[in-house]
Amino acid sequence: MLLTTAPDPLWQLTADCAADARPDRLDLLVGVYRDDSGEAPVMAAVRAAELRLADRSRSKAYVGPAGNTRFRHEMTRLLLADPVLAARTDGVQAVAGTGALRLLAELLTATGPDRTVLLGTPAYVNHPAILAAAGLRTRTYPVTADGAAMLAAVHAAQPGDVLLLQGCCHNPTGLGLPLGLWDELAAALARRGVTPFIDQAYFGLGDGLDEDLAGMRRLLRVVPEAFVAVSASKAWGLYSERTGCALVLSADAGRRQQARTMLETIARIAYSQPPAHGAAIVEEILTDPILTACWRDELEAMRRRLGRLRDGLAAGTGFAGLGRQRGMFLTLPLDAAAMLRLRQIHGVYGLPSGRINLAGIPYPRIEAVSSAIRSVGGRNHEMSA
Ligand code: PLP
Repeated sequence: MLLTTAPDPLWQLTADCAADARPDRLDLLVGVYRDDSGEAPVMAAVRAAELRLADRSRSKAYVGPAGNTRFRHEMTRLLLADPVLAARTDGVQAVAGTGALRLLAELLTATGPDRTVLLGTPAYVNHPAILAAAGLRTRTYPVTADGAAMLAAVHAAQPGDVLLLQGCCHNPTGLGLPLGLWDELAAALARRGVTPFIDQAYFGLGDGLDEDLAGMRRLLRVVPEAFVAVSASKAWGLYSERTGCALVLSADAGRRQQARTMLETIARIAYSQPPAHGAAIVEEILTDPILTACWRDELEAMRRRLGRLRDGLAAGTGFAGLGRQRGMFLTLPLDAAAMLRLRQIHGVYGLPSGRINLAGIPYPRIEAVSSAIRSVGGRNHEMSA
């Protein structure tokens, strides 16, 4: 099941789109931020950091299995915004968010082979495969705006089980948990002895950087132990630089130290050492207040553009529920047949599930894309309420 010979539908559709001869075809498949010209731009703060690094760089020596420690500390400071929580955190640099997820999944297997991971569906497509590859058992529950099924799954879980959840801007539904629900969830996790495993990939692209991280920060103050997989791919536009980190939070210094040693061993066996460049860029930005301010402004501009696109699409299609989704992805209330018509008739490429990368739509084309969506029909009206 894990290794199939069938091509991945995402990459197959991406190739189909690239081969589509229509000049106005739109690739709304993979989660890369694009501007109105269709470019996936290098952020100005990233470019400035790269220039400084190029000037200073004297060595390409190995960075060690734990990678860039200063980068990890700066990421921890940014994400947690709390010195007490940061002091309870250890971890390693990872090969982007995917690498962090895989390292932490392996750590979970090594430290509790009998645990079950609770996984919301629809899930990020790679989550089930990463968990399965690490040998973890999963139990699914439906992702809903009120989080009721997730809370019920936690109440029914065994101590030692794990809840895998996305920190904000859920891929693919665009749903987020209200702050009150994070508090309820934290209390339930602590009571049941269930460990949160949080995937943070889209922070800064929903309601704002601190707003997107607020729920996770509140939860981490309550639970005794947690795992966080952080991707720098989206917030810094560093997709191909494979930049991220795997964090372990525990009040017990011995457990933290043990977890980091195990993560280093898992990394050493899998790829030996992470790539240096992306982490050095983020370190440079986060240790310079001017570059940090520039990066925050650029991230905010990206977020605002996504908001304008989402509102435009909600108004243009009449699916008002779209306006409540957050992040780079959006799930249209269209079935696979309608998504096929959208590709064939209009050259607009999204996934058969209805998921599209909102950032791929040039704003001047929002009305044309909305009317194309309207013309291929809706699956149901759950999004229009
Ligand atoms: N988690 C989620 C929810 C994602 O959507 C993605 C990428 O699309 C990732 C993690 C991994 O991103 P990367 O490995 O590129 O950092």
